[in-house]
Amino acid sequence: MRWLAKIAHFVIDVCYPRRCLRCGRGGELVCSDCLAALDFSLEGDLRGLLWGDGQRVYLDGLWALLTYDKLAKKLLHHYKYLGTRDLSEYFGHWLDEFASVPEVDLVTFIPIHRRRMAERGYNQAAEIAKRWAAARNVPCRALLRRTVYRSKQAASRDEAERRAKTRGIFAPVEADVDKNCTVLLIDDVVTTGSTFNEAARILKKAGYKRVYGLALAHGD
Ligand SMILES: [Zn+2]
Repeated sequence: MRWLAKIAHFVIDVCYPRRCLRCGRGGELVCSDCLAALDFSLEGDLRGLLWGDGQRVYLDGLWALLTYDKLAKKLLHHYKYLGTRDLSEYFGHWLDEFASVPEVDLVTFIPIHRRRMAERGYNQAAEIAKRWAAARNVPCRALLRRTVYRSKQAASRDEAERRAKTRGIFAPVEADVDKNCTVLLIDDVVTTGSTFNEAARILKKAGYKRVYGLALAHGD
């Protein structure tokens, strides 16, 4: 089926040439000028968000590539809600190129609930993780599943409530891998760090030795 997918992509490229989502220039979804406008501020370890909050920290490191500003929000909105799935190519590439993370044995991603998956058709974090993993030649596996479905309204409630609601939202998925390893968890956005930390808690409980977190963007 691979060749069929290639032909389909070719037809789509001819009929609907790529245009920059910000300025409209033809050729790329994010042109070189608009890429330069992105804020790759590369903040330090974001576990400070969790320490400051008095939470027990299960992550061995947490980083984000971009500031979640107007432009990053626009790109992620296209990616998550308007079906511009090809943006994962760009996001995975940027993470590979610009984010420095320690060596890992395995890559995974923050899962979405199967109902959300049915609505959206893809897990935005998984697509980015797969791209990063392919670029680094590291296996990418689903290690977690989401047990709780939350509506958008619930997701946007205040921070304290969101934190409290994070506990117990994931369950481990049995994967045929050696758990004595270092895992990189990927998601699109990190806000309070609680979701990453909860995922790391479950992975550690399941026996994984080290868990790092990496998000495309950090902010509210
Ligand atoms: Zn542009």
